[in-house]
Amino acid sequence: MIIDGHTHIFTDDMVQNKERYCDDRQFSLLYYGKARIAHAEILVDSMEHTGVDASLVMGFTWHNEEYARIHNNYLATVQHTYKKKIYAFGAIALKGDIYKQIETIKKLGLYGIGEVAFYADGFNEEEELLLGQILAVAEKFALPVCLHVNEPVGHIYGGKYYTDIRSLFALCSHYTKIPIICSHWGGGLLFYEMMPEVRKSLTHVYYDTAATPFLYESGIYDIAVQMCGKEKIIFGSDFPLLDYSRYKQHIEALGESAEHILHKNVEKVLGLS
Ligand SMILES: [Zn+2]
Repeated sequence: MIIDGHTHIFTDDMVQNKERYCDDRQFSLLYYGKARIAHAEILVDSMEHTGVDASLVMGFTWHNEEYARIHNNYLATVQHTYKKKIYAFGAIALKGDIYKQIETIKKLGLYGIGEVAFYADGFNEEEELLLGQILAVAEKFALPVCLHVNEPVGHIYGGKYYTDIRSLFALCSHYTKIPIICSHWGGGLLFYEMMPEVRKSLTHVYYDTAATPFLYESGIYDIAVQMCGKEKIIFGSDFPLLDYSRYKQHIEALGESAEHILHKNVEKVLGLS
């Protein structure tokens, strides 16, 4: 059983008329120009080719509330059409009423919120407050949250911004009642899981592997298992950026841990096990 825990899909219209949606600052920052986006059928086709049984698809963090609403309705439809094959997290709009948006995500039957990201303005005081609000409301509705977290060092790429690791830790250790997935290995937060008191505060935090081939040497998988344990790592490809074929060999080489990374942990987050 293989579940891809971090993929991205958009509506058919968003895929076909991508430029039209580039009036959204968050969307244009990531997808203006050549960057490819996919709809559900493209994802399902890729899953068949790569042997992935199910995918967790992410919504997007929009500026525009109407785009987030359209996106969420699409994700709910797709999740219904592809039962047990596609599970979806809901999109959020930074300019909208957070409470109402999360309430709607819950009503639509989506499994969580994410990927929450602050591409356009970065992670500053205002964003920190907003993220706190998102986590508080997510806790109220018992919805897991997936956060986009970058490495504070290394090469620059589109959508990379700095997240203060202390603020991230403070927020994660405050909102402990829901699973929080820190994407892209939590930008390195997982290293501090080697500190007993940090590990104790982050038992509900997971790390995903999204975009690893572009960021780290393949030794990261084994070292990550040693640092935070096999129960906290979730395979995510970041499709359509990459697919399972780029991860397969490295994750399968982990032996018994692979089962946790490839499906058991994400099943727990989604409440399937
Ligand atoms: Zn991300």
